[in-house]
Amino acid sequence: MSLLALTLGVSGASAQSASRGGFTSEDIVLRDNLIAAQETLLNVYRCQFGLDIGAVAGGCTNGYPTQGFSRPAKFEGIPTSEDIAVRDRLVAVQEALLNTYRCRFDFKIDTAITPGGCPGQANSKQTPSLALDALVRPGDLEGGPPPGLITPSGVSVAVLGVDGESFPARPDGDKGVSAPTPEVNEGRFIVMTPCGSISTVSAGLPLQGVRVVVDPGHGGSYDIGAVGPNGLAEHDLNLTLSYAVLNELSSRGIPAASTRTGHYGSPLSVRSAFADALGAEALVSIHHNGPTFSIGNRPGTEVYVQSVSAQLARADSARLGGLLHQEITGALAGFENVSWSRVLDAGVLRVLSTRGSDAYGMISLPNVPAVLVEYGYLTNRSEAALFATDEYIRVAAKATANAIEAYLNTDRSGTESNQRPRVFNPARAPSSCNEVALE
Ligand SMILES: [Zn+2]
Repeated sequence: MSLLALTLGVSGASAQSASRGGFTSEDIVLRDNLIAAQETLLNVYRCQFGLDIGAVAGGCTNGYPTQGFSRPAKFEGIPTSEDIAVRDRLVAVQEALLNTYRCRFDFKIDTAITPGGCPGQANSKQTPSLALDALVRPGDLEGGPPPGLITPSGVSVAVLGVDGESFPARPDGDKGVSAPTPEVNEGRFIVMTPCGSISTVSAGLPLQGVRVVVDPGHGGSYDIGAVGPNGLAEHDLNLTLSYAVLNELSSRGIPAASTRTGHYGSPLSVRSAFADALGAEALVSIHHNGPTFSIGNRPGTEVYVQSVSAQLARADSARLGGLLHQEITGALAGFENVSWSRVLDAGVLRVLSTRGSDAYGMISLPNVPAVLVEYGYLTNRSEAALFATDEYIRVAAKATANAIEAYLNTDRSGTESNQRPRVFNPARAPSSCNEVALE
């Protein structure tokens, strides 16, 4: 099977009529076929290149999915606009993940220095681009622009508006013949770049109705985060786990997006603004801790929740944090022969600076309910070895999605927050940022 043929074959079937209403089962079938084909391609990539193999149902045999092609789900009943929207979001997430995989292959197998590569990777060969007919342009939209977009190069951004500047219609010249159709200015989306500048893009995959924003901590050459004794870098590990969480949420029908979709940096203020712009019900920042303080007999997972900031979100943040702590520590404790690191007050924590404000930017800046999870200690040799496995990614992603699903759909609250806040002044996050190509 040719990967390229499959890519082109499925992108031609992309959804175009999402905003028109009056959907038929044909609209559903089209999307479900596309979703199945994209899933097949994702699984082929995973099996061929040994990435996220835990995500392939049935595993891999000789570099291909053991179960062969993914089959579309059967749909019965009358499709609603929500049925369509859920599928379109899944398609967008799949596309973004496919492009991330493509970038990683280029990075691995081709070290030629070519400008205009994948986001944040100046030495990759090709720029990944999303299927053009899956993109929405400002002129395609009834009503206002979506709050967020995945740009044609696969970068997620908040949308600030649509460029209202209009261009004159193409002149007829002096032939006395009117132009067949007047030139319509479709405008451009005005977006906030990952570095926080204002820019415009011609099109993108709309991020609408997103309930959960996942934030892969760190990113870019200036901020790689903690590094394990095995060389595993936190920015990479956080991104891998975040994508697994997005996949897990997608498979449960929970619309989600990521603050960063590749190896580039983005200030905490921009990540927070992205979650606020999307009006997410939860922002989960994914991290792995360092350095190692002390040996524990169980996982030293720490979850930081909002305390003095975000008045309206505080209670939700504590409940979400409690669920995440309960699910994650429960799941990690199932791994055998791991020497864990743990500090005494590990748990669900409010961390305050000596000035009395929430110490971490990802907690103090967002208005939406936010938590920051330190799954474990990457600087601890034993935990770093575990974090490098596909099994860890699978288990941690599932636990995270379990907690998020319980937060959205139940009133369970999980582990109780520690009574006593921890007082800590974290180092300032690196302020340098390199812009990435948006299309
Ligand atoms: Zn971190």
